[in-house]
Amino acid sequence: MPMVDSTTSTRQKAIVEAQGVSKQFGDLEVLTDIDFRLSPSEVVCVIGPSGSGKSTLLRCLAFLEPYDHGSVYIDSQLLGYEDSGGKRVRTSEKRVDEVRAPVGMVFQHFHLWPHRTALENVTEALRLVNGLSRREADEEGMAMLEQVGLADRAGHFPESLSGGQKQRVAIARALAMKPRVMFFDEPTSALDPELVGEVLEVMNKLAADGMTMVVVTHEMGFAAKVADRVIFMDQGRVVESGAPDKLFRHPQSERLQQFLNTWR
Ligand code: ADP
Ligand code: MG
Repeated sequence: MPMVDSTTSTRQKAIVEAQGVSKQFGDLEVLTDIDFRLSPSEVVCVIGPSGSGKSTLLRCLAFLEPYDHGSVYIDSQLLGYEDSGGKRVRTSEKRVDEVRAPVGMVFQHFHLWPHRTALENVTEALRLVNGLSRREADEEGMAMLEQVGLADRAGHFPESLSGGQKQRVAIARALAMKPRVMFFDEPTSALDPELVGEVLEVMNKLAADGMTMVVVTHEMGFAAKVADRVIFMDQGRVVESGAPDKLFRHPQSERLQQFLNTWR
């Protein structure tokens, strides 16, 4: 009689998965044999020293960067195949713009259009990519600004917004595209310390609402509080990963112990 493989059936399916991903820039190996799975509604924080490959990993997972070996898979439901039954799609076999669409990206530097208002920054892609009318896009854009607490700044240009407000506009812009996964690459690293909290608060709320997120961050307090799992990278490898409690209280490797000491 065939046995049901309980390890497979109970294991929550990954919506993004990397297997054995390696990447070089010239002679420099920046990612070595990375395995990574992201489950629905999971929040994963990626920590590690500068140059350890965190941004490159995020870019490979988000299909912004080609890699040399391994595979990145995406749950085909993310691509809008409703009845896919959890099939996975190897992203290298799909059109890049198609697999990129369900992934929202937020970067350290906000990349807002300087000559567009907060609202126009959010609605630009809704109109040009999604083909919404101005009225529809404005309505949707206002809802997104509302979500990040900036409805009252809709008509402001970026230069008259604080760094924290600019980053919240950037988050609203990403959310407007209805992403299924959000990737944040050091979203608060460029901010004055007093502005970090308002951005983390928005991200915290997103996580609580069930958004699937990968966050590269040096905010250990945020990672400890919000992450389901923390990944420590060093020199292109995942050195340790686990629940924040375990990782922060009982780091196994000397490298993680050293790294945490410098951030405490
Ligand atoms: P992190 O985000 O952890 O600081 P990165 O992923 O940005 O690390 O970079 C990892 C390594 O790859 C670094 O040594 C960096 O200098 C190098 N690197 C990143 N992007 C490029 C690039 N486009 N060309 C050459 N080297 C790069
Ligand atoms: Mg980086």
